[in-house]
Amino acid sequence: MEAPILTIIVPCYNEEAVLKETVSRLSDVLTQAFHDRLISFQSTILFVDDGSTDHTWELIDHFAQQDQKITGLKLSRNFGHQNALIAGMENARSYSDCVITIDADLQDDVTAIAKFLIKYREGFDIVYGVRDKRDTDTLFKKNTAIFFYKIMERLGVKTIPNHADFRLLSRRVLDELVNYQEENIFLRGLIPLLGFPSTKVYYNRAERFAGESKYPLRKMLNFAIDGITSFSVTPIRMVTYLGTFFAGIGFFIGIYALIQHFLGHVVTGWTSMILSLWLIGGMQLVAIGIIGEYIGKIFKETKHRPRYIVEKRILTHQSFKHNVF
Ligand code: UDP
Ligand code: MG
Repeated sequence: MEAPILTIIVPCYNEEAVLKETVSRLSDVLTQAFHDRLISFQSTILFVDDGSTDHTWELIDHFAQQDQKITGLKLSRNFGHQNALIAGMENARSYSDCVITIDADLQDDVTAIAKFLIKYREGFDIVYGVRDKRDTDTLFKKNTAIFFYKIMERLGVKTIPNHADFRLLSRRVLDELVNYQEENIFLRGLIPLLGFPSTKVYYNRAERFAGESKYPLRKMLNFAIDGITSFSVTPIRMVTYLGTFFAGIGFFIGIYALIQHFLGHVVTGWTSMILSLWLIGGMQLVAIGIIGEYIGKIFKETKHRPRYIVEKRILTHQSFKHNVF
C-alpha cells in the first residue's frame, strides 16, 4: 500500500498563546511519520481559524510562509468548534487520503498520531482517540462529562466515552460525512452512526499548554443540549409519558373530589390547589421548553444556511512538486 496523504486539521479560536508550540510539535510528528513511511510527502497541516479576534490568523500566515507543509483556512467569523472541523474536513477531502483532527491546545497527545496511522494502514477507516485518564481535567469538568455521556447513553445516542474530537477519518468516511448537511452538527454522535471498520487508540490527556479553555460552563451546557436534542427524541417522549401520568393522577383526584362533594364535605383545599397549580404549571413549562427546543432545531435546519464561510485560504498543496520534508 502506498503511503497515504494525510491532512492534520486543527481548529483554532484565539489560540495565539499556543500556536507556535503546536506548529513545531505537529510538524515534528509529520516529519517523523514521513520518515517512518506512514504518510506521503504531500501531507500537510491545516489550521482553521474560527474567527479569532487575536493574532491567530497572522501567526498561521507567518508559519505558512516559512513551511510549505502548513496551510490555513480563515473563517469569516466564529462558527464554533464543530463547524470549524467540518470546514477543515470538507476542504481537505479533495486532496487527502485521510485526515486527523486535533485541538490546537496540545491537550491531545501528538504521539498518538503515529498509532492512528498504523491503524489506518491495518485497514481501519475511523480511529478514535480515547482518553485514558482525565486527571488533568478539573473535577467539575470530569464529572459533568461523565454525567453527560451517561445521559447520552440512556437516551440512546451512541458515543464513544472519553473520546473528544481527536480522531482519524479515511477519505471514504469523509465522502459520506459531507452528505450529512444538518446545521446542528455533533460529530461525536454522528461518526459512530456511519459504520465502517473502526478502532480506538488510548492516550493521556494533558493540560492545556497555554491560553484558556474556550468552553466555559455556558458553552458546555449548550453543547450538551445540542448533542442530546440533535440525536434523540426521547426527551419529547418523556414529556408525553409524564403528561399522561399526571393526567391519570388528575382523573383520580377528580373522582375523589366529586365523591367528597356529594358527601357534602366542605373542601377548603387551598394548599392542595396551590401545590398542584405550581406542579402542573412547572411541568408544562418544562414540556413547552423541550418541545420548543426541537421546534427551534427544525426552524434552524429548514433554512439550510451554510455552516461556515471561508474568508481566506492558504493552501500550498497544489504547488507540491517535490518533497518538503
Ligand atoms: N475552538 C474553535 N471554535 C470555538 C471554540 C473552540 O475552533 O468556537 C477550538 C479551540 O481553539 C481548540 C478546540 O476547539 O482548538 C477545543 O477548544 P478548547 O480546548 O477551548 O475546549 P476544552 O478542551 O476546554 O473542552
Ligand atoms: Mg482543550
